[in-house]
Amino acid sequence: MDIYSTLTRDKQDFKTINENRVNLFVCGPTVYDDAHIGHGRTYIAFDTIKRYLEYSGYAVFYIQNITDIDDKIINRSKESGIPAHDIARKFEKRYIEDMNRLNVTGVNLFARATDHLNEIIGQIQRLIDKGFAYESEDGVYFEIEKFKEFGKLSNRKVEELESHRNLAHTSKRNEQDFALWKKREGSDEPVFSSPWGDGRPGWHIEDTAITEYYFGDQYDVHGGGLDLIFPHHEAEITQMEAVSGKSPMVRYWLHTGFLNVNGEKMSKSLNNFITIRELLKDWDADTFRFFVLSTHYRSPIDFSKDSLHQSQKSLEKIKKFYSSLDVDAGEVECDSKILRTAQDEFFASMDDDFNTPKAIAAIFVLINECKNTDLSGNDKIAIKSFLDDVSYMLGVDFNLEEVSSGSDELFDLIMNVRQELRAAKQYDLSDKIRDELNDLGYEIND
Ligand code: AMP
Repeated sequence: MDIYSTLTRDKQDFKTINENRVNLFVCGPTVYDDAHIGHGRTYIAFDTIKRYLEYSGYAVFYIQNITDIDDKIINRSKESGIPAHDIARKFEKRYIEDMNRLNVTGVNLFARATDHLNEIIGQIQRLIDKGFAYESEDGVYFEIEKFKEFGKLSNRKVEELESHRNLAHTSKRNEQDFALWKKREGSDEPVFSSPWGDGRPGWHIEDTAITEYYFGDQYDVHGGGLDLIFPHHEAEITQMEAVSGKSPMVRYWLHTGFLNVNGEKMSKSLNNFITIRELLKDWDADTFRFFVLSTHYRSPIDFSKDSLHQSQKSLEKIKKFYSSLDVDAGEVECDSKILRTAQDEFFASMDDDFNTPKAIAAIFVLINECKNTDLSGNDKIAIKSFLDDVSYMLGVDFNLEEVSSGSDELFDLIMNVRQELRAAKQYDLSDKIRDELNDLGYEIND
């Protein structure tokens, strides 16, 4: 299996530290709002990568951190008057619900920053003891000059950190030094105690403290979106390699391309986003997942309803073909050359840096070839079994939706109960039911 690493900028044969085991870490969300479909793109990509690694025989342990203490959360708390802790827990819960609906189920451990303060403080202390970090008036900083290899992941220079710093009112030795611990700034912000006074961790240190705790100082794969290469991942390497004295911290650095709208990255700050919840009101999760996987994970995706519609039609084609393969088991051995060719192409593509669009193309070749062939019952069984595996690897269900009258009846029943609650003026409960149904994608207007 060949995997492209941002660190070496080429594809390399995949060799793990421990045979058949993969320790995988992907930067998780900052939980202050609902996740948008750009986030969905990145997490679908890594979920599929995990699925494929497992299918290929690796035991994968996949950790995602949850940034539950951060400026964005604190600002949201100040705006709304809701405690930062409550905001973080609410959006963490909603994030995990969204991921489950996208069939992104591969994360083995969600590690909150605030649950790892001992590890964070311990790592900062060792950086100070080794002379890489120093305490100042307003925090603890990493002294960037002390780590000569800074920039090896991004090929960018220390000076470029300037654009990411917030120099105002800081007491750093050098402009580019980045924060490991931020001392309390105001009385209304959440703080944690530390040897350097009350405050909170910097963003970069939470990831290396978490990965060092669970994986040790070197591990196999680190992932995230392209925007995290600099300065976040660069700072992670700096911290971890400084503290451990070992290199490389991570063998393979994988970065996803952006999901764009009209050529611009979908993001909260540009206000051009669609939340996963909004999308799933009109589109099913399989369609979105299939849409995402129809582009290679490192390439940008241009999001539009038209291309989503195109993906829906393509997926429909696979589903119809899949349902046509229903036959009774039995008969003779399958010797379908068509199937073997499709399998070879599918696995060769996935082994080539998880090239899902090429792998999916092999499925369409298979479908077209089958149209011109008289398949035996066992051919069909073998092809169906292969498609079941593909469905698992891509995380996309190939069963045609069954129109379930049962769920309609259940929905009517809930609506009737809600009407009775409203008639009895029990609005708290009836509004709660409406909000939760809205979250599930049902539009209910009174
Ligand atoms: P954030 O909470 O903004 O740090 O994002 C969480 C993860 O989603 C990071 O790995 C980001 O790189 C990724 N991400 C954010 N926006 C997009 C986007 N438009 N396309 C792809 N990935 C994104």
